[in-house]
Amino acid sequence: MSKAPLSLNEYDRPALDMPGKTNQLLLHSCCAPCAGEIMLAIQASGIEQTVFFYNPNIHPVEEYELRKDENKRFCDKLKLPFIDADYDKDNWFERVKGLENEPERGKRCTVCFDMRFERTALYASEYGFPVISSTLGISRWKNMEQINDSGVRAASRYPDISYWTFNWRKQGGSQRMIELAKQEAFYQQEYCGCVYSLRDTNRHRMANGRPRVKRLVTFYGNKKDDEDVELIALSS
Ligand code: SF4
Repeated sequence: MSKAPLSLNEYDRPALDMPGKTNQLLLHSCCAPCAGEIMLAIQASGIEQTVFFYNPNIHPVEEYELRKDENKRFCDKLKLPFIDADYDKDNWFERVKGLENEPERGKRCTVCFDMRFERTALYASEYGFPVISSTLGISRWKNMEQINDSGVRAASRYPDISYWTFNWRKQGGSQRMIELAKQEAFYQQEYCGCVYSLRDTNRHRMANGRPRVKRLVTFYGNKKDDEDVELIALSS
């Protein structure tokens, strides 16, 4: 089948079936590149979404602010509510203590997802959102099962909240994510987010004769396609 029908400007978006007979979604978002395609898909389905930015894992604060601002910029464009939650990084460091040398997708990431989704579920319970979900799973670099497990675990703390385990990568979602990132010239982060992922990405690059991570300077649309694919896969 030709790729064109799944591309951003050609895709005939189907109506998404959110669980729980509700039209209200609290969407945890990690960054603009991952969130953009998902936000469009949800909006096209007529689901009322509120974007919840809670990512105290992102280091350092300038990186956090830029990723947040980029996400808010696209929310404003789509006229969607954007919740700017705490940057309580001290709590994040406390929770991952002892897991500093875990590899990506390991135990530290489970704790990181748990913390972010627990806060999302708490906000949902306080403000009456019956369903939560996250943009983290669209990245092929992530373990979707690990993310869904954390999301379901966080939602299960509340009897009236469920976690929507939709696979956003399917039906060309990964392709449209990159197309949209280029179209909107989103900031292009080069590591997952925490100080340990920055360290490990730099170690990997240096071991392979590549330059260290550049922060705060690269936006989609000014690199070759193969580099785009690799970098967006690192986003979180
Ligand atoms: S690598 Fe990414 S998901 Fe894992 S702990 Fe660091 S920021 Fe969180």
